[in-house]
Amino acid sequence: MLQKANHLRIINTRNLSIILRERYLARVWLSCKSDHVSSMTEVKTTQSEINNHINCAPHSLEENRNVKSKDRRKSLTQCVAWVLSLTEEDRSKYFQTKRLSEWYAGCAELRDQIRTNTVSEKYFTLLEELGVARECTSKMVELWSNKEQCDEFDHILANSNECTRESVSESFDSFLKDNRYAELFLTFNVIKARATLAHHDWSLNIFNGESTYFDWRKRRIKSVRSETGQYGYGIDHPTFAVELGIGCTVQCTFCAFAAEKHKENFDFNNLENQQLLRALASAFEEVMGAGVGGGMLYYATEPNDNPNYIDFVNLWYQETGWKLCTSSARYDIEWIQNLTEFYGSPTPMMWPRLSILSRHCMEKIHRHFTPEQLGYPWLLAQQIEVEDERAKVPGGREKHGLKKLKEVRDCRFYDTPEEVDLESIPQGSIACVTGFKVNMINKTITATSPCYTSEKWPLGYRTYGTIDFTTPNSILPALKQLVNRVMLKTLPNHAPIRLRDDLQLRIKDSGFWLVSACQFHQFTNHSFYTNLGEVLEINNSRKVPWTKSEFIQELMKRLPNQSPMAVAAFFEKFFNAGFIDETFLSDPAWEL
Ligand code: SF4
Repeated sequence: MLQKANHLRIINTRNLSIILRERYLARVWLSCKSDHVSSMTEVKTTQSEINNHINCAPHSLEENRNVKSKDRRKSLTQCVAWVLSLTEEDRSKYFQTKRLSEWYAGCAELRDQIRTNTVSEKYFTLLEELGVARECTSKMVELWSNKEQCDEFDHILANSNECTRESVSESFDSFLKDNRYAELFLTFNVIKARATLAHHDWSLNIFNGESTYFDWRKRRIKSVRSETGQYGYGIDHPTFAVELGIGCTVQCTFCAFAAEKHKENFDFNNLENQQLLRALASAFEEVMGAGVGGGMLYYATEPNDNPNYIDFVNLWYQETGWKLCTSSARYDIEWIQNLTEFYGSPTPMMWPRLSILSRHCMEKIHRHFTPEQLGYPWLLAQQIEVEDERAKVPGGREKHGLKKLKEVRDCRFYDTPEEVDLESIPQGSIACVTGFKVNMINKTITATSPCYTSEKWPLGYRTYGTIDFTTPNSILPALKQLVNRVMLKTLPNHAPIRLRDDLQLRIKDSGFWLVSACQFHQFTNHSFYTNLGEVLEINNSRKVPWTKSEFIQELMKRLPNQSPMAVAAFFEKFFNAGFIDETFLSDPAWEL
C-alpha cells in the first residue's frame, strides 16, 4: 500500500504539512505546561467553524455532523463541490495546475528549474504534451519561483480555517488578481486543508459509543501523538485495515512494514469469503458505529495484488454504504481506469491515491489520462528524487530503514527541548490504524496502534492481542472478546504498572519529565508530580513492577494529605493520557 501516510508531507507547493506542524508545535508547547495532567482533555482537534472562504462556502462542521453517517457518503466533498462549481475554462485551468504540481513534486530537475525560474524548453514541451499549457507553467513558475509569495501561500494554508478573501495579505491578493492559475490552485488547497481538518474532526471525535474500544482508542491516539509528534497529530487514525491476502508483490526496499513476499489471495469467487467480509463489516459496525467507514482493505499488502480488490471494496460499499479509500503503487493503466471509474460515480471522490515510484511511471500515466480524467485522484510522488523533500520512514527492513533508524537522534538524546530541531526527527512510522488489523487468509483480528519505530516494534506499530475467527458467525463474538480482553476502560487492580516502552523517565527537582522521541512531557511544580516521579523511579528499578493497587498505595503513602479518591483519580488521568504500557494484555497467560 506504500507509505500511505506520507501524503501529509508532500502536497503541492512547498509543504502543506505546515498546517499540521503548526498545530503540533502548539501542542508541544501545551504539553510542557506544568498542569499537564489536569489539562489533559478528550481527543479534540483544533477546529473553528468553517467560514466562507475565498470563493466557496463549504459545509460547516455542524452540518457535517448532523448528516446521518450513511448519508454523508452522498454529499459532495468540499473539494469536489468546488471543482464542479467552476466554469469549464477554470476547471481546465485548475486541473492543469494539479498536473503541474505532480511534476513539481515528482521531478527534482523540473522542481529546481521552477524554483530558479529557468524552466527549459524540454519541460515546457513535455508538459504541453501532457496537457499543461505553456501559460499555466509560466504562471505557476511566477508563484513557485517567488519565495516571498510561497511563504505567504504557506501562511495562508497554515491558517486555512480563518482564511477569507479579506484576510489574504494585500501583496498576495494583488499577485493573485493577475494570476488566475495560482488563485485556483491556492483556493483548492485552502479548501482541501479545511476538508482535512474537518475529516480529522469526524475521525477523532465522532466515534464515541458504548464499547470500551472508544476509551482505548482515545488513549492510543494520545499515545501516538506523544511518541510520534507531528505525524501523530497529522494522521486521522483509521479504525481498521483488512488484508485481502498475504504479502505484497511490489517488495519496495524502503517498505517500513517489511511486507513479506506475496503468497496468497483471499478469493472473491468463494461465496463463503464474501459472507466472511460481510460479517466483518457488520461486526465492525456494531462495535464502532461510523468507524466501519473509516478503514481500508489493505495494509502490508498492495490492493492490486488481489484481482477482485474492487469487487471487495464494492461489497463493503453495498453492505455499509461506505466507499473505503484506496492507495496503490501499481500503475497498470486498466487498473487505474477501473479505480477511477469506481470512485468517479455517482459523484466523484478524491480517490484513488496513486503512489508513483518513478518519473517514467508518472509520464506513462499522464500520457494516457488527460488532466481532466485524473482531476480527482491524487498522485503521490514516492520516487528517489523526492527524498530531498520528504525522507522515507526509517523502519521495517533491517538493511534499509532500521539501519537508518540507528543514526537518528531524537528528543531522547538531548537534555532540553531547546536543543532539539524537531524538523530533523523523521516521521517515526507509516502505520496509521488505531483499531483492528485483520488478515482474511489467516482469519485473525489484531488490536493495533502506531508507535515510533523501535527495535522492539520495527514495523512502527504495537500489537495488543490477536484473536482467531473461523466462520462468519464467529466474527462478532471474536471481535467482542478481543475488545473485552485488551481494550479496557481502566486497568484492573492486579495489572502490572510500567511506563510505555518508548518513554525515558527523568527525575527533576520539582517533579519529573517523560521524554519520547518527539516530545518532552514536563510534570513539575506540584507535589503530585514530585511523588509520582519518585514512585515511577522506584517501580522502574524493580524486577517485578508494582501492581496498580500497590502503585496507588505507594503514591498514597507519599501524599497523606490527599484523599484516596483524589490519588486514584490522579492515577486514572495519567493512565488515560496513554503513558502506561498496555501491551502486556496481549500475553495469553495474563489473566484478567
Ligand atoms: S512493499 Fe508493498 S506494502 Fe510495502 S511499501 Fe511497497 S507496496 Fe506498500
